[in-house]
Amino acid sequence: MEHVVYVVGHKNPDTDSVCSAIAFAYLWNKWREGGNVSKMMKIEEEAVPVIQGDVNPETKYVLEKFGFDVPEMIESGDGKKVALVDHSEKAQTIDGIDKAEVVAIVDHHKIGDVATPQPILFVNLPVGCTATVIKLLFDKTKVEIPKNIAGILLSSILSDTVIFKSATTTDLDKEVAEELAKIAEIADLTKFGVEIKAKLSAVDDLTARDIIMRDYKDFDMSGKKVGVGQIELVDLSLIEGRVDEIYEEMKKMKEEGGYAGIFLMLTDIMKEGTDLLVVTDYPEVVEKAFGKKLEGKSVWLDGVMSRKKQVVPPLEKAFSEL
Ligand code: MG
Ligand code: MG
Ligand code: MG
Repeated sequence: MEHVVYVVGHKNPDTDSVCSAIAFAYLWNKWREGGNVSKMMKIEEEAVPVIQGDVNPETKYVLEKFGFDVPEMIESGDGKKVALVDHSEKAQTIDGIDKAEVVAIVDHHKIGDVATPQPILFVNLPVGCTATVIKLLFDKTKVEIPKNIAGILLSSILSDTVIFKSATTTDLDKEVAEELAKIAEIADLTKFGVEIKAKLSAVDDLTARDIIMRDYKDFDMSGKKVGVGQIELVDLSLIEGRVDEIYEEMKKMKEEGGYAGIFLMLTDIMKEGTDLLVVTDYPEVVEKAFGKKLEGKSVWLDGVMSRKKQVVPPLEKAFSEL
């Protein structure tokens, strides 16, 4: 084993996955120096934030704005100590996880299937963002948050909660964001949120595959392989002319990957709803899950902005009832 803990977020990293890895690695290294946490566990290894996939333009913008380099990419966890942030699902984690030693998990999703032989630091709260959990860990262990770390944690919260509009948003996320904004000296959260989100709305230079893969996750739903992607736009008209091309690419991906279904959420963050593009062998799951029939390639779901709260759970249920 190397004498390092690699802190890594999920595949197809979003801003929370990357920035929470950076912030948690910083916190871990502070813990390593001593203080509160040493009463509970002894930390020997230094933490290093890494990514397992290219960062998106929003994340790149956030890292540049607050003066961080893009973390190094690693391909496999084989023989490494790892800390997982923003996920605990094998389907989303680093390759070779079964030969890695997982030493910590910090997350805000449903508990996945990564298992450990030993007790570990495992903190999961049902909030809108991993960065919210990490801020609480800083506070609880009395580690001061530097201004630039506050900036990336705040960016993660605004990104994950879609500027507090997503159904995943809790009062705790808002409270923590206000505290971070003070440290980061950012006065207008909505303005800053739109500034970040606009970076993801530029899709002209992307291939159809890039658009699908922008924020894409694989799930095992009752033994069936299902992919759910999401692209958040400030206006759906930005992507209108590309829908047929994207749909054809989804069909291709479905065949290549042996999927039971691929679902792509085209989310309008201003109108606060999602046009769900669907390619599946089981079109009946759409009505079961969302109470609305597919109209051609897609179905408009008013008020739906969260994959993990409003799309994945009903789809999982629908697939389990097939
Ligand atoms: Mg994430
Ligand atoms: Mg997250
Ligand atoms: Mg997300």
